[in-house]
Amino acid sequence: MTEIVHPIGSAARPARVAVIGAGPAGFFTAEALLRSEAPHFEVDLIERLPTPFGLVRAGVAPDHQKIKTVTKTFDRTASHQRFRFLGNVEVGSDVTHEELRARYDQVVYAVGSSADRRLGIPGEELTGCHAATAFVGWYNTHPDFRDFPFDLRGRRAVVVGVGNVALDVARVLLRSRAELARTDIHGKALEQLQASGLREVVLLARRGPAQAAFTPGELKDIAELEGVSVELDLPLLEREAAPGRMEGLDAAARKNLEQMLAIARAPRRPAERTLKMVFCASPVEVLGDDSGCVRGVRVEENELIDAPGGPKARGTGRFFDVEASLVFRSVGYLGVPVPGVPFDDQGGIIPNDEGRVLVARGGARLPHTYAVGWIRRGPLGVIGTNKADGVAVAARMIEDVGGLPARDLPPRESAQGIDGLLAGRGRRVTSYADWRVIDAHEVAVGRDLGKVRDKVASVDEMMNHLLRTSPRPAAG
Ligand code: NAP
Repeated sequence: MTEIVHPIGSAARPARVAVIGAGPAGFFTAEALLRSEAPHFEVDLIERLPTPFGLVRAGVAPDHQKIKTVTKTFDRTASHQRFRFLGNVEVGSDVTHEELRARYDQVVYAVGSSADRRLGIPGEELTGCHAATAFVGWYNTHPDFRDFPFDLRGRRAVVVGVGNVALDVARVLLRSRAELARTDIHGKALEQLQASGLREVVLLARRGPAQAAFTPGELKDIAELEGVSVELDLPLLEREAAPGRMEGLDAAARKNLEQMLAIARAPRRPAERTLKMVFCASPVEVLGDDSGCVRGVRVEENELIDAPGGPKARGTGRFFDVEASLVFRSVGYLGVPVPGVPFDDQGGIIPNDEGRVLVARGGARLPHTYAVGWIRRGPLGVIGTNKADGVAVAARMIEDVGGLPARDLPPRESAQGIDGLLAGRGRRVTSYADWRVIDAHEVAVGRDLGKVRDKVASVDEMMNHLLRTSPRPAAG
């Protein structure tokens, strides 16, 4: 009798894919693969934390709950019968890239950009000078940052950079504590904010208002904050928005300028706290006191010079100091290498050609390996940008199924499959059902506290809660 060999991608032998990273890029890629009917795919979504959703859970600010409703789409993907979530598994330590390659037809990295860019100026190591990304992780109860020693007692904070993360940080620092208390903000962050004497946040933009990286919606949120006045340089804005100067700007930059002008012209409201935006200003040194704590920032005024790709900032040699006890650098996220997977240090990404991973920038392909989201293209774009990216990279993977070498893979639940490998290493893998248990618990505790949810703060607490409620969580 001849054994029937089913082609890879057929209903009887779906192409087996490991997606690494359960943030938006990972989920949107999984969704696009599972939508494909020819070829068929089977997807394991592998995540370092026991919980899914990446920056939707740990990046989107607690007062932006509406944005988080995208998780309903991810729930639908997770309910697909050929989808599994394998949480609490780190690629590089719990399982290697090679071990994944032996068990999956294709592997796609959607690990985002988990580190931050530094300013590269003296004083960055002083107590009180932080990465905005750490502050974001802290107020969002990310297990890696939940105990970060922030001290918010000072009266003024400086935030360097004017992207959407900078505005998130400023907004959380300034928003009324009563409003924050109803969100899913980390309990410790709320306590510290409630006790904080913070009165002013100064945003430093190295270029002009027309080059601000924030989006009009984020600026509007700031302008509408209860009890907060926004200080802007009206003459500068009027020069920038003068007839003829707006031409050539994209729609978002025009809208930003129009909104900033409207804010600057509006009568001052009585305010408890103030946000001050300072344009054409770069920090050159974080200033410290005798005990090694931040006491301020030395800033150089900039002028803008024409350059390919848009105006560049150039120092004028004129300086001023801003007194502050807190400095947040918010100048972008940075990708981190995955052991065993090529990495482009310069770009902070996995080198790739439209999602197909290369051994080095411009080099040969690393077979059957893909990258998607921020680790593919850099830390730019909103959650929706990852949908288009996920669809595009999934299309490359679909195209490539025909070229996959015929091979028998051990079933994923078998001793030789991924489940057996991880169980043999004593790894307690969390499933989507486990996540639902944690989710229900967080919402219930939050309800008692008058919050949207109260997040479990550590991986140990999550795993202990699962042990108490469902003694043997199984992948699936
Ligand atoms: P970003 O948008 O790239 O902004 C980085 C900011 O840092 C820019 O203002 C940049 O100025 C400035 N900068 C860079 N290097 C600097 C230096 N050495 N000195 C001074 N300033 C410097 O990055 P992000 O704010 O981290 O956001 C990352 C992505 O997430 C963005 O696409 C953002 O839109 C998205 N996001 C979206 C939301 C939302 O939709 N609600 C919320 C958070 C984040 P230059 O322009 O001069 O380089």
